[in-house]
Amino acid sequence: MTAQSQRYDQKAAKINLKGLTLLELEELVMQWGEPKYRAKQLMSWLYRRRVRAFETMTNLPHQLRQRLANLAYISEARILTRTTSNTDTAIKYLFELVDGSRVESVLMYDQDRITVCLSSQVGCAMACDFCATAKMGFFRNLTAAEILDQLITIERELDNEKGVTHVVFMGMGEPLANYNQTVKAIRLMTDANALGMSEGKITVSTSGLARQIRQFAGEQLKCNLALSLNATTDADRTRLMPINAKYPIDEVLDATREWALATQRPATLEYVLIRGVNDTAADARRLRKLMGRLPCKLNLIPFNEIEGADFQRPELNQVERFRRIVAEGHHVAPIRFSKGRDIAAACGQLRTIYEKQGAMLLSDS
Ligand code: SF4
Repeated sequence: MTAQSQRYDQKAAKINLKGLTLLELEELVMQWGEPKYRAKQLMSWLYRRRVRAFETMTNLPHQLRQRLANLAYISEARILTRTTSNTDTAIKYLFELVDGSRVESVLMYDQDRITVCLSSQVGCAMACDFCATAKMGFFRNLTAAEILDQLITIERELDNEKGVTHVVFMGMGEPLANYNQTVKAIRLMTDANALGMSEGKITVSTSGLARQIRQFAGEQLKCNLALSLNATTDADRTRLMPINAKYPIDEVLDATREWALATQRPATLEYVLIRGVNDTAADARRLRKLMGRLPCKLNLIPFNEIEGADFQRPELNQVERFRRIVAEGHHVAPIRFSKGRDIAAACGQLRTIYEKQGAMLLSDS
C-alpha cells in the first residue's frame, strides 16, 4: 500500500467536518450528546479561525475534542505547484487531493477585486473542442469540501485582510454536472456561520445544461450565472460543444431566461472568439439577435491558444469589429483577455503541462 492510499484509507474511515452544513453538524454533535450550539462553535473554528487541530478549539469541552480527534478530520488541499504570471496578475495553483487527483484553481487580481476561479470536477465529460480539460476526460466529481478547500487554501496565502472578494466556477469541470456538491459549496460560502460571502460575488459558469439551469433557478440563490455560448447556430455550437446536441441553443437560452426571471438578475453570455470559427460579422449579428431573447450581458473572450488545439485567437481588429456589431443594442463588457496567458491559465492547461513535463518546470514554490 502506498503512503498516499494509506492516507486516503485512514481519512475515509473518519468524517470530514469541512463541507458539512450547519444542519449536518448540528445532527452530528447532538448524536454525541452535545448541545446544538456546539455546531456553530465548530463552524467558527473551521471557517473563521481556520484551525486544523482539534486541541486548539479551546471553547469545546475536552471530551468532545477527543471524540473529534478519534472520529473526524478537517480536510485541506495540498499545493503541488504555484505559478505566477509575468505579464499580469494571476497565480495558478495545482492542487493534489487526498486520493492523488489533481485540480487547478486561479487567483486573479483586478484593482480591488480578488477573484478565485475554482474547479468543480477532476477532468470534464463535456468534451468542448477548444478546452484543455476536455482532453483529459472525466475522472470524478469534487466534494463540496474539496471545492471549498481550493478557496480556503488560496485565501490563507493572501497577505491582505480583505481576502477573496469574488468566486467563479470556471476551472476544471462543469459545475452543474456536479450539481449537489456545487450548490452545497455555494451555500457554505454564503452561510454567515461559515465563509459569509455575498451571493452576488459568486458566478457559476455552465456549458449549457438546461435541466440543471432550471433547477438552479429554484434554489433561491442570488448568484450569477454565466452561459458559455460560443456559437450562434446549432451546427456550429454542436461542433464546438457536443452538449448542444442534447440542449440546443433555443432550449438553453429559454432555461437561462427562466433563471434570469426567477432570480431577477441578468445572465452573462460568455463567447470565446475563435479565428475563422465563430468570429464573422454574420455571427455577430446572430449573437445580437439571440441576446434580445433574455436579460443578459456579454463577455467576449479572445481564445487563449492551447497546445494541441487547432484553434487560433482572432486579430485584435477582428475582435473589435465583432464587438462593435453586437454592441449596437446590447451591453457588451470590455474585451476580456484571459488572465495568466503565460502561465497556461485556460482551464486544464496547468495540469496537462505538469503531467507532461514534471513539477520542476512550473513550480516557483
Ligand atoms: S470548457 Fe468547461 S464544460 Fe467544456 S470541457 Fe472544458 S471544463 Fe468542461
